[in-house]
Amino acid sequence: ESQLDVQRIRADFPILHQVDEEQHPLVYLDNGASSQRPNSVIQCLSNVYEKHYANVHRGAHRLSGESTDLFEEARRAVQQFIGAAFENEVIFTSGTTMGINLVARSWGDANVTAGDEILLTEMEHHSNLVPWQQLAQRTGAKIRAIPVTADGQLDLDSLSVLLTERTKIVALAAVSNVLGTINPVAEIAKEAHAVGAKVMVDAAQAVPHEAIDVGGWDADFVAFSGHKMLGPSGVGVLYGKHALLEEMPPFLGGGSMIDVVEIDRFTPAMLPAKFEAGTPPIADAIAMKPAIEYLEQVGLARILQHEQSLAAYAHELLADVPGLKILGPDVSKKAGIVSFVIDGLAASDVATFLDGRGIAVREGHHCTLPLHKKLGISASVRASFYLYNTREEVEKLADAVRTTVEFFG
Ligand code: PMP
Repeated sequence: ESQLDVQRIRADFPILHQVDEEQHPLVYLDNGASSQRPNSVIQCLSNVYEKHYANVHRGAHRLSGESTDLFEEARRAVQQFIGAAFENEVIFTSGTTMGINLVARSWGDANVTAGDEILLTEMEHHSNLVPWQQLAQRTGAKIRAIPVTADGQLDLDSLSVLLTERTKIVALAAVSNVLGTINPVAEIAKEAHAVGAKVMVDAAQAVPHEAIDVGGWDADFVAFSGHKMLGPSGVGVLYGKHALLEEMPPFLGGGSMIDVVEIDRFTPAMLPAKFEAGTPPIADAIAMKPAIEYLEQVGLARILQHEQSLAAYAHELLADVPGLKILGPDVSKKAGIVSFVIDGLAASDVATFLDGRGIAVREGHHCTLPLHKKLGISASVRASFYLYNTREEVEKLADAVRTTVEFFG
């Protein structure tokens, strides 16, 4: 049973209170793709634009000072939220994708050469695959992958073979966006570090749902997105260990990231400006603070517990739908993500049918083509829960799925 007062939480999220043309209330179960945001975040955005907005770190004028202060306050909120030791270990990016590309380009080009190995996992999102493939193409490094077991977990036994002194970096998701699997990041990081490899954590599906501590993980780099954690779209965070960020060359060049520029050369700025070229997503970064405050006020432990209880309920209700198979590990080992396939039914037909009843789910390969290939399927349907979802919504999902099967069957 959940410990959250979900009705009270829902009152804070204006978008959830709409109905479609046929008067179906919105059942928003696509939180893995993007969450919705509470009034405090929406109001913060309009408040910034109404009262405090100017470019940051530039002008001598009052508004620029105000927006810079708010921007740096948000950085400190993120720092404290993820347990980073220093505020300049927090780089504002446009999202998870940008953070991973930054590391693959900046750290990767400087540290990876032909014959080196990059260790990924078979359950990675394309944004934690393609930047490493591009790095391998540029350098001649080799990609390896930790296999996914039949029950949707990482095959940790393979680490003793896959991790060698050739491994330069291990890049893995903390939580799978399809299977919901919660991966043992700290354990893998320990083994990776033992062979001298660095660790990049794709925390896009973890930071919104569980209290994370980058120090406890001992991760070298961690990337996540604002839009999946009640914050705005267009902003994300890259955490990196201070010593590593210090020695890395800048990724994007432009304004703000320099110390001195001459016509044919530049010297980079100090952290974090070195990695924040150009005008950042100012209001969006500022609104990360109320998003974090909201999550902390409700409590990450209670949020995860709530989502897991909804996932368990979904497993229970979907269990006897004919031909339906849920992907991933036992419900006790995963986050609030329930992906499934139904024999003889296209995922897109299922999702369209659900949409006709006001239920928003995602269908397709969820940017994990290699994982879907491994599972022997081309697409799946994904319901992903968050703090504002209810047991009644899970019941509506299960009823609608059952009706879909009857309709097409
Ligand atoms: N990694 C994972 C595990 C994700 O679920 C997502 C979002 N679908 C991303 C990376 C990419 O995040 P973004 O699109 O915000 O850059």
